Amino acid sequence: MTQMNDYSYIGENLKRIRDRLSEAEAKTGSRPKLMAVTKTVPAQAVNEAVRLGVDLLGENRVQEYLSKCDDYDKSAKVHIIGHLQTNKVKYIINNVSMIQSVDSIKLASEINRLAKNHGTAMDILCEVNIGGEASKSGVSPDDLIPLLTEIAQLENVRVKGLMTIPPPSDSDIFLGRMEELFHSISQRNIPGIAMQELSMGMTNDYYQAALHGSTLVRIGTGLFGARDYSH
Ligand SMILES: *Cc1c(COP(=O)(O)O)cnc(C)c1O
Repeated sequence: MTQMNDYSYIGENLKRIRDRLSEAEAKTGSRPKLMAVTKTVPAQAVNEAVRLGVDLLGENRVQEYLSKCDDYDKSAKVHIIGHLQTNKVKYIINNVSMIQSVDSIKLASEINRLAKNHGTAMDILCEVNIGGEASKSGVSPDDLIPLLTEIAQLENVRVKGLMTIPPPSDSDIFLGRMEELFHSISQRNIPGIAMQELSMGMTNDYYQAALHGSTLVRIGTGLFGARDYSH
């Protein structure tokens, strides 16, 4: 017997998220883009979200992405949002339109080298560890300007803004700090550095993030349901 997958829950979840983003938009006058975060989600479910109009996918693990990307609907763009090892950049440089998780000059330099080899430039965001958590990647707020200034020298890397994962417990406080940091960096007008994307907000805090100036929310479980790591 052929098993039909029922993905109607994705449409329902998507509607709820879009309604919530509309509520935030009514307050702020702007609306973040919606990214579907695909970790552990089968390609068919991802494609259902794309069919419903989600045009941006977020990938955490290079290995998992490579195993699924052939089956993806190619009309959506793909961003890397997970910690990226320098030796893995070569596998994704031609397939993704942005790397959001850059937190070192070493990684930025490797992206630059490979982008140059391919005759392209890669858009990136710098990941900021706004909560100063030892367990998380990302550059500390104090080290951000020196890092941006160094990356600005790289010709084949274009900084478009910042990304963060705030500590879940005090998310609202840190969303506010991130918003301030984003504006203060923006006002410095560092040559070669654009501050047009502020990627923050996940399932549990995307509404608050939208109120704090997020331009891009990254949603996994709220769209696809709880993650299944069993296979
Ligand atoms: C998993 C993940 C998300 C989505 O998290 P949910 O809570 O499932 O919405 C967003 N951003 C990053 C970097 C992630 O790893």
